[in-house]
Amino acid sequence: SSASAISPALSGDELAVLRDRALRDYDELVRRGLSLDLTRGKPSPAQLDLSAELLTLPVKGHHAADGTDTRNYGGLQGLAELREIFSGPLQVPAAQLVAGGNSSLTFMHDSVVHALLSPLPGAARRWADEPRIAFLCPVPGYDRHFALCERFGIELIPVPMTAEGPDMDVVERLVAGDAQIKGIWCVPKYSNPDGVCYGDETVRRLAAMETAAPDFRIFWDNAYAVHHLTDTHAEIADVLALCAENGNPDRPFVFGSTSKITFAGAGVSFFGSSPANVAWFLGHLGKGTIGPDKINQLRHVEFLRDEAGVLEHMRRHRELLRPKFDAVEAILSKELGGTGLASWSTPAGGYFVSLDVLEGCAREVVRRAAEAGIALTPAGATHPYGDDPRDGNIRIAPSYPSLEELEAAITGLTVCVRLVATEKLLA
Ligand code: PLP
Repeated sequence: SSASAISPALSGDELAVLRDRALRDYDELVRRGLSLDLTRGKPSPAQLDLSAELLTLPVKGHHAADGTDTRNYGGLQGLAELREIFSGPLQVPAAQLVAGGNSSLTFMHDSVVHALLSPLPGAARRWADEPRIAFLCPVPGYDRHFALCERFGIELIPVPMTAEGPDMDVVERLVAGDAQIKGIWCVPKYSNPDGVCYGDETVRRLAAMETAAPDFRIFWDNAYAVHHLTDTHAEIADVLALCAENGNPDRPFVFGSTSKITFAGAGVSFFGSSPANVAWFLGHLGKGTIGPDKINQLRHVEFLRDEAGVLEHMRRHRELLRPKFDAVEAILSKELGGTGLASWSTPAGGYFVSLDVLEGCAREVVRRAAEAGIALTPAGATHPYGDDPRDGNIRIAPSYPSLEELEAAITGLTVCVRLVATEKLLA
């Protein structure tokens, strides 16, 4: 949901007044000598404190429900009771879920590497033997997905996002006509960065569409599955079930983690898919490890207990996060609303606000903000190869700074937006 469409709503005289005020505000901002960081979506220390108990768990012993001694080797698929807890939130039967180590991004990376080195179920050959491989990237999107592909020479093809997810007319046309398109990156709930939740029809079309590649995979990164900011908990369609119903059971790879539930980079991660894909994945995973850190998994089971425990824990995160997202919305509305100089997302969950400024202004806004001591994610990071052709999108990560710091940073950012936009329009 965008606040206002971008088209300057001001006359030349009004613009000049606005520019002069922005110049004064900017000088004042620079004089304050701020040092604030809005770059990465990290939980705040107060959010991490919500999981402090984890540091002293497990206390109920070190055996899993089936009697496994978690201190010893084995159990490649991860603890069954942990998979049970996340089966609902990730919409994957526990038997088809793998619980792993501290990073879902590692699972995504390893899935790509295994597909390069060993044929996927349904593949004619391994990806490394293909003349060319491409992935579709809904934009704006998550820069680490793009970087992962770039590292392996996988071509990135941007696809526009809509309020319902990727533009499916474009996706269907591309995947039907090019057998070298092997995947698509999807953050289906509260997407990074624009907070979009995929509509049911989008998911159905992704599951049912004809792909020229027999080994096409949806990389379904459900990183924000339970990260609600309102009482209305977004539900998305069950991609695994829909793919199976449409005769494409092996199409989705589902990923998730507790990085933004418990400790970021010290939680547990998940891979879920069809039985054939899970067998393929575990076969390769087992060449690199004898099993995951089951003690950390047991610790998480003891702490979170069940799905209701996860949701209750996320309610506490929401209490800390909500005032920050509300502050961003209030300041952007007050300072930029009605000017036509910017539009932004008002997410109902997740970790980001996506700010769109006038075409050709994003890099300059980020540069001016940096000069005033406000660090922002580099403009363009939300696009493949760091190239936003409009040079208009800026990702805001409100979670980490204190409310006071956040308010100062967002207010400063709006000064930069007003200054850069009015200078450009008057040039
Ligand atoms: N996927 C998305 C969409 C993210 O935004 C992030 C972190 O920002 C990650 C994955 C990283 O997940 P993990 O910590 O499990 O590697």
